[in-house]
Order: sequence, then C-alpha cells, then structure tokens
Amino acid sequence: MQKSFEDFKFNRQILNAITEAGYEEPTPIQQKAITPILAGQDVMGIAQTGTGKTAAYVLPMLMKLKYAQGSDPRALILSPTRELAMQIEENIRLFAKYTDLRTVVLYGGLGPKTQIAELEKGVDIIVATPGRFLDLYLAEHINTKQLKFLVMDEADKMMDMGFIGKIHRILEVVPRKRQNLLFSATMSELVHKIAGDFLAFPTVVEVSPQATPANTVSQQLYLVPNTKTKINLLQYLLKDDEDFHRLIIFSKTKNTADNIYRFLLRKYGEEEVRVIHANKGQNTRINSINAFKEGSVRMLVATDVAARGLDVSDVSHVINFDIPIVIEDYVHRIGRTGRATKSGVAISMATPAEQYYVNKIEKLIRQQIPVADMPDEVFVEKTGFEEQQAQAREIDLQKRKENPDFKGAFHDKKASNLKVNKSKKDKAGKKKMGGQTKRKR
Ligand code: AMP
Repeated sequence: MQKSFEDFKFNRQILNAITEAGYEEPTPIQQKAITPILAGQDVMGIAQTGTGKTAAYVLPMLMKLKYAQGSDPRALILSPTRELAMQIEENIRLFAKYTDLRTVVLYGGLGPKTQIAELEKGVDIIVATPGRFLDLYLAEHINTKQLKFLVMDEADKMMDMGFIGKIHRILEVVPRKRQNLLFSATMSELVHKIAGDFLAFPTVVEVSPQATPANTVSQQLYLVPNTKTKINLLQYLLKDDEDFHRLIIFSKTKNTADNIYRFLLRKYGEEEVRVIHANKGQNTRINSINAFKEGSVRMLVATDVAARGLDVSDVSHVINFDIPIVIEDYVHRIGRTGRATKSGVAISMATPAEQYYVNKIEKLIRQQIPVADMPDEVFVEKTGFEEQQAQAREIDLQKRKENPDFKGAFHDKKASNLKVNKSKKDKAGKKKMGGQTKRKR
C-alpha cells in the first residue's frame, strides 16, 4: 500500500520540513527503506541518484537522533565525492531546520582549519569523504565513541574510486554496536563484498531502475537556440500527421503548456489538440484525457504534474518541448511511448541553458541521447536579447550550483570591476569556457 509521510510517525518538526521542501509523497525507495531504518535494522538500498535515496536515510536518521546531544558525532555519512557530500549536507539542513541538530561536512581539497573549528563547536552528524575523515580522526579532532549510525552512500562509486582500504580503516575505528546503511546504484562484486563486511543481516531494498528507458523507445535530441525555433521545429514535425498520429507534448510549466496549446489550437483546431495542467478543472481534464485516449484528438499538451497518474501510455511520439528539471520526469515522460513491443519515439528540444539537465539525464539513464540535425526546412530564429540574458543567467546559476566558488561571469560584473587584473583574466577565460555547446560527442 502507498504510504504517506504521515504514516511513518515522524515528528512534527520533520513533517513540517518535508512539507516545506514540497515533497508530497514518499518515492519508492523511501516507501521501502524508511520503516526498516526506523526499526533499527541494517539496510542495503540499491537505488540510483535521482530516486530520493538521500531523504530515504536522512529522514529516519534525523528522527532517531532527534536533538543535539553532547559534542561528539552520533552519525557518520560517507560519500565518495565532495559534491555528493555537499548535497547530502544540504538535504540534512533542509530537513533538520526545525531541530537543533548540528551537521559538519568534511572533504579534502582545502585546508582543514574551518572544518576543525566547526567540529570543535560540537556536532551530531558528520558527512565526509573517507580520506578527510580519516585525516581528522587521526589528528584527534574526531571522537568516534558515540557513533551509532554509519551510512555509506554511493558505495559502488567508493569502490570504483579505490576507497576500500580507507573504508576498512574507518570500520576499525568506529564502535561495533551501530546501525549501518549502505546505498549503491549497482550491485558489483566489490559492493557485495563491502556489504558483507559492513552490514549485519541487512534488509535489502531495491527500486527497479526506472531510470532505464525501454529500448523500444528511440530518443532524439535537437539542440535549439531559443523558444521561437522550438515552435518552428514543432510545427515542422507535426506536418507528418501519419507518423505522428498520437502524441504528447510535455512542458515543465503551465504557462508554456498554455502557449503551445494556443499555438496548436490556432493551427489545428479543437478537434486535434487538448491541454491538461493543474489549473484546468477536473472535468475538463478528464474529458481531454478521454478524447485523447479514444483517439479522437491527436495531440495532448501536458505538464509533468498533470500527466502524473495519467493512464495513457500507448502513444507514437513524446515531444519534450523543454527539458525537465526534475530529471526523473524525463524517464516518466518518455515511458509513455514504446510500451510493450510497440516502438515509440521521444524527441527532446534543448536550448543551451537546458544542456545542463540533458547532461544530468544522460548520466541518470546511462545513455547519450543521439543529437538529430536540425532539418533545413526549420527556420532558426535569432535569440532575442531578453531570452539571451535569461539563458546566461541560468547557465551562471548552474555553474554556481556545481561549484559554489564560481564567480559568475554574468552576475558579478560590478564587483569584479573592482578586482585586480588577474581576476579579469580568469573571468575572460571562464567566459570562453562558458560556451553553450560544450557538448562532447
Ligand atoms: P536523490 O536521489 O536523493 O539525489 O534525490 C533526487 C531528487 O529528488 C532531489 O532533488 C530530491 O530533493 C528530490 N526528492 C526526494 N524525495 C522526494 C519526494 N518524496 N518528493 C519529491 N521530490 C523528492
């Protein structure tokens, strides 16, 4: 049965933080992992990034730690990379915001001074890469005696990166009596081995890698400079109404969905196209879906939210008018086509600012989406000033997300003018690198 977050008996502080994070219901890995973790079992979770695995262990862990206590850490989360460590810490902060639990994140690549100072203030949860953790432990900045919770995240990556020796060393210095959790995207031989060393009678929870699109779906990606060109491309594709006989056009937002709908309505009339999104009344929505299901209308424009739970799968084409930011939605979207033995086509359109999400999706699905050539018949519009600015801003934000030290090539113009020549030079270099079609193929 589907559980809601309320069913887990989290306390109010955590439930409020979950609501504020906008999580409405637990993801499959959360459904499966939270109860055994709350019950104190060792858990091995086979789940990829993107499945919600972080909250699957962070939430029950916070529930068990409850509030700040003493000065030594009670939970240690090991991560293969600094990026993941920071993401995990962000998740913890998000959900612990109504508690007084203290988190410190430790990773290499910069001096340990600040991290040591943080540790000295007292800590409940440490998120760390194995090397930096060991260094600080050996320098006696960390007392492991109170550790009751040990999590190894992305264990397969840890093994690939050769951390096995360090992991064993860490296992020697933490108390024996503790709860262990291991998460891994895959179940390689080495992961199996470390799980054997690490976990006691674990409960294994697994989510089917929904991140693998059916191989009956052929995927294509068009690199498009701007929205107007997307419309031109859409118009071109839809001309082939024999091939494109039943299609869903996806967009992230209601606004874009409405714009696409209005455009198609003018061209094809209400007999051929409907739109569904959260602002449409339930009846209109059901009517639209039924008309599409019966085959009386050819095209359905939908947002991800509206399409959730939509029981229409057998479509010839899925067109991603934009690239979903919640990257798992990509797999959901294209899963509407190519069901059973039928083949389907998923066509995505990405502007330079969306390339970031395309890269993430490709990592998630472990495939490169083949890039299609822009047909000669499609008029490629010039990108207007406003859209250009919006794209540049978006790309800047993405870079900051990846590297918090990144000084925006776009935002910080004023501040950077005050700096010395060297930073000017750096900035020029970065600008060049910020090329929008940095796609390795
Ligand atoms: P993860 O697999 O932990 O990296 O999570 C992937 C993304 O899903 C993150 O952006 C989370 O914030 C988001 N997420 C995790 N759990 C939920 C949920 N129950 N509802 C909505 N989003 C979620």
